[in-house]
Amino acid sequence: MKKRDHTKLICDVGELSGLFKDVTSLEVFLQKIVEMIAEHMHSDVCSVYLFDEQMREIVLKATKGLNPASIGIVKLRLGEGLTGIALKEMRPICKKNASSSPGYRYFPDIGEDPYESFLAVPILRGQMRIGVIVIQNVQKNYFDEEDIKAFRAITSQLANIIETTKMLMELNVQKLTNKKIGNGQPLKLVKGKVGSQGLAFAEGVVWEEVSVDLDARKEGNERVYSLEDFHRAVRLTEKQLEDLQQQVEAKLSDVASLIFTAQILMLKDQTFLEAIEKLINDEHYDPAEAIIHTVRRYVDMFERLSHPHLREKKQDVKDVGRRLMDNLRGIPEGKAEHNEKIVVARELFPSEILKLSSQGVAGIILLSGGVTSHLSILSRSLRIPLIIADEDLLLNMDPRTPVLMDAEQGNIYIDPSRDIVDSFRKREKERQDIFSLKDSVKEVTYTKDGVNIQLLANINLLSDLKLARAFKAEGIGLYRTEFPFIVRSNFPSEEEQFTVYKKLVEGMPGQEITFRTLDIGGDKVLSYYNHSKEENPFLGMRSIRFSLKHKDIFMQQLMAILRAGRNAKIQIMFPMISSLDEFLEAKAIVEECLRDLQKRQIPCHRNPKIGIMVELPAVLEIIEALAREVDFFSIGTNDFIQYLLAVDRTNEKVSEHYLPEHPSVLRALKKVVEAAQKHKKEISICGDMAHEARYIRYLLGIGIRRFSLDPCYIPTIQNFIESVDLRKMEQQTRQVMAQDRIQDIVQMME
Ligand code: PEP
Ligand code: MG
Repeated sequence: MKKRDHTKLICDVGELSGLFKDVTSLEVFLQKIVEMIAEHMHSDVCSVYLFDEQMREIVLKATKGLNPASIGIVKLRLGEGLTGIALKEMRPICKKNASSSPGYRYFPDIGEDPYESFLAVPILRGQMRIGVIVIQNVQKNYFDEEDIKAFRAITSQLANIIETTKMLMELNVQKLTNKKIGNGQPLKLVKGKVGSQGLAFAEGVVWEEVSVDLDARKEGNERVYSLEDFHRAVRLTEKQLEDLQQQVEAKLSDVASLIFTAQILMLKDQTFLEAIEKLINDEHYDPAEAIIHTVRRYVDMFERLSHPHLREKKQDVKDVGRRLMDNLRGIPEGKAEHNEKIVVARELFPSEILKLSSQGVAGIILLSGGVTSHLSILSRSLRIPLIIADEDLLLNMDPRTPVLMDAEQGNIYIDPSRDIVDSFRKREKERQDIFSLKDSVKEVTYTKDGVNIQLLANINLLSDLKLARAFKAEGIGLYRTEFPFIVRSNFPSEEEQFTVYKKLVEGMPGQEITFRTLDIGGDKVLSYYNHSKEENPFLGMRSIRFSLKHKDIFMQQLMAILRAGRNAKIQIMFPMISSLDEFLEAKAIVEECLRDLQKRQIPCHRNPKIGIMVELPAVLEIIEALAREVDFFSIGTNDFIQYLLAVDRTNEKVSEHYLPEHPSVLRALKKVVEAAQKHKKEISICGDMAHEARYIRYLLGIGIRRFSLDPCYIPTIQNFIESVDLRKMEQQTRQVMAQDRIQDIVQMME
């Protein structure tokens, strides 16, 4: 191997000799820098990444050796991949064998597969992060101590000049935000977070684009239509929607109640129909034009309404318009508008996700929200791949742009290359139907050293029961009762709730079922509850606070649970309890319901266990007192982390602060477990930490023996638990617990 002459390189950089020659743009300048370094270091690859403060992303800006098409496309978060770690921790990272290092991040298509020796040095200005320079080599173990020293010297010399370049480039950001994406345009890969796992490859549709795309359907159709044709189309559309409602109802009876009513009602609305008829009769419009005209007017009207939930209706009008047009022209009921499409939206309502599901949407990309948000939870239940990506440019996507969603890694490929599509097809083929895993799941779960661990299911929709049974869940550790409340247009009555709960109980015969009482507010807003507009909904009228304030609604729910739970093993759990007083008040209401039911001689469960979710840090100091009173605890880590660390769980912009491995989180969890053990009360985890293998070990280590998780994760987690030696884990957990720094814990957990 040729010896590298670092002195020469350092001098060259210092003098910047020739660096500005032929430079026509800042990009060209960075490119010259990487080429010069690559040559002097005898490295196969040299790349410069710059840190975008605002977006909190590290973006590849120049490279010698990697695929040039990935410039500006490959983006990392702070701490993501070895490059991200180097910048986050402000230290060089040198790996002899990069692809097998923890933290290594692989991007298909950038051409880095064969490079094993890896050296990343952050470019810093004091405490300010400017970027990272990375060199790579095919040969393993290529870089030595001397290289690291030299490389640090180079980056510190270059820091100033790169910082200036970066600032100048940022002045051009405006250009970027106006940029369109889609066919042949530069935005190719967007990285996001996985809200619901899966793969999808389909045309992208931007949800916000409400322009009533109906004219196109006219082309090639010369027929003249009559008023009678229009009436026939109305009747046919009505029938189709009623059938659709019935189909959805059969599949999702708990939540789908009347989700298409708005559309059916529109067809019964005389003002709407008369507006169209008037255009046909008085103004001699062709019925098709009359429909387009009127639908557009309605869309505009709904757009102007201030209540966001009413704006949802514009999609309904659009749907109705599309159906009317098809039926007028005798186009057979074809694929729904979003069938096999990937929908890109800034935000969606749960009811919209249900409608999309019933239309057979292929995937959803949301620009807002978080992976523990309720839209993610709902999408998981509906098995729709969902990625949350904070990238406004996605909304500029050209219609019909092919989009590939890898909702396993969180990557969105816009108009992907053939290689990517081929590798996707291969993975898609290998991906088993989730139900096929059922035979490998065992009835009971043991750690490697023989300790029994219980795996229960979180149920959001009744349709989750099928998977819970297939994967032999040992009960329901959390039934989120709020979904039927969220999607409807009014509070469901006691009878409606009873019907849903009864199906739940019958769905898991003989098993323990934990009903969590209504947990609305936060990101679960009820469109029909008009006090729901709050500045800080997560700190507002949420959850048990709502139930205690609206005792009538609370009692109806409790009655429905107690009645449905007759002859079953049910438990009642209150969410978001902050004090002993609150718990006792809620428990007293259960007792009042029991007395009332008994007095009226209505059959019901007489003696349910009553427990709480641990979700607020407020309970930590009174945990012993609570442990004496409750029958059980279940820790809702999604909220617990949010409230302990003051990080909005639905805000993608602060997601890097949402850290289950924060020492305060881990120690607090342990404190709760100890209190439960001391008072011999059952304790489980039902937040998303329960389905992440990296945390499970520590949760086992602090004494958790019961996990409740989305059933789709049961096979993987069972497998994982079977590989854990609990005694060893307890030891490691003690070491983890002794750490005060997050980064030390993260490293130990890797
Ligand atoms: C939690 O907060 O961890 C939890 C399970 O409840 P939800 O996600 O429904 O708020
Ligand atoms: Mg919660």
